[in-house]
Amino acid sequence: MKTFYHSTRGNGETVTSKQAILMGIAADGGLYVSDQLGEVQLDLADISRCTYHETARRVLGTLLTDYTEQEVDSCVKGAYADNFDTPAITPLTPLGSDWLLELYHGPTCAFKDVALQMLPRLMSKARMGDGRNVMIVTATSGDTGKAALAGFAGVSGTGITVFYPEGKVSDIQRLQMVTQPGENVAVCAIRGTFDDAQTQVKHIFADRELAARLAGDGCILSSANSINVGRLVPQVTYYFNAYAQLVRSGAVKVGDAVDFCVPTGNFGDVLAGYYAKRLGLPVGRLVVASNTNKVLTDFIETGVYDRRREFAKTISPSMDILVSSNLERMLYYLTDGDCERVTHLMGELREKGFYDIGADLLGKLQGTFGCGFATDDETRQTIRATWEQEGVLIDPHTAVAKCVLDRTETEGAQRVCLSTANPYKFSSDVLAALGEDVSGKDGFACMDTLQAITRVSAPEQLSSLRNANILHESVCNQSEMGAFVERACERMFA
Ligand SMILES: *Cc1c(COP(=O)(O)O)cnc(C)c1O
Repeated sequence: MKTFYHSTRGNGETVTSKQAILMGIAADGGLYVSDQLGEVQLDLADISRCTYHETARRVLGTLLTDYTEQEVDSCVKGAYADNFDTPAITPLTPLGSDWLLELYHGPTCAFKDVALQMLPRLMSKARMGDGRNVMIVTATSGDTGKAALAGFAGVSGTGITVFYPEGKVSDIQRLQMVTQPGENVAVCAIRGTFDDAQTQVKHIFADRELAARLAGDGCILSSANSINVGRLVPQVTYYFNAYAQLVRSGAVKVGDAVDFCVPTGNFGDVLAGYYAKRLGLPVGRLVVASNTNKVLTDFIETGVYDRRREFAKTISPSMDILVSSNLERMLYYLTDGDCERVTHLMGELREKGFYDIGADLLGKLQGTFGCGFATDDETRQTIRATWEQEGVLIDPHTAVAKCVLDRTETEGAQRVCLSTANPYKFSSDVLAALGEDVSGKDGFACMDTLQAITRVSAPEQLSSLRNANILHESVCNQSEMGAFVERACERMFA
């Protein structure tokens, strides 16, 4: 069976998965979804015996049906090879009576590598036979940027432009981006927040005149943000693979329900968990964990999504988000594909700053999702307690999830906490959480001290940044982002 995609807002044509991946976002501003999600289920007993690669092949083969078996196979082999520092790709390790799903073993030490090592490969296959160049434009709250740069650098026929909010990413995150080599990469800080950057990127995609000028030069724009189906789908794999690891360890029997707690920003990671559930994974609760920017906690508790609030800069910056783009896909499935209603809700959010889904949909939402949030203080306490009591060093994003999970009541199911970044990406906040004085110390000094006191070694990809050259120093206003992209296209593709 072939799977087709269309916009959550119902306008425009039906496209194949290759076209959806190539375009990123639909022309009407909606996100690509498929009505066939869940029509084909994965065989759990079979998956429980599969390696990561085999699982990825099954997941991709089910959701991206216009890729041939050979294409999928070559994408999977290329994406998950020795660029990950463990053949398990996403190992599951004990965390007290729960489990930690370590998603940070890729080249940039954040979970986004799992998808962004795959997306460029999917994109290249989708481009075949299409002479146009693709410029990827991405807004990042810190981790997407580097993961996208690492994925797309040097991929022929593509360019990558990354915008990050100035002063709102960690030292190490910034260095990871501004030291990125490659002829086809561009990096720029913007004056504003991640939400500002993301909004502006959406405007750039919707700018018909810009698109026409670029088309004249044989270039199209696309997205590496989690609004791209090609990013969402690879993430479904690790939910199944985590389950397989639980089965193999004897912790669950095939068919037993498992809960997942997911540190959430743009709702991409946790939505992949929902997709896994629709594909037949016995998911008990999907717990959405937020930091102080707890729009999603409030939404899941009340049914009102309200972005009219003070933006808080926290120690889990990749979750400092007030507009969770992928929630639009969830609304689509929640309303059984009611595009009109989704369009209306998105319009309310844009114009009034909030929307209310009403009691019926709220009941449905709560049937699948749990929620909770952790303040920075609670996050620090969790990092410290997890280190002192379990001997496991976790990053602030993971700690948000762990804190929420610890407070969540469960009915005896095994519970998996998704660990989304290596703690050394946030050396200074992690060190401070352990009670050390970090004043006057830069990210590397903190890294050294953290290694000395924990004896956990920092990954080479991060420690080697110390000697890397700064290659990108641009800073711009939000209104200048479009022009920055256009110049980057000229430079790379002219
Ligand atoms: C991006 C990110 C998140 C949030 O993931 P979403 O898919 O945006 O919900 C959580 N933790 C880390 C470390 C991240 O980089």
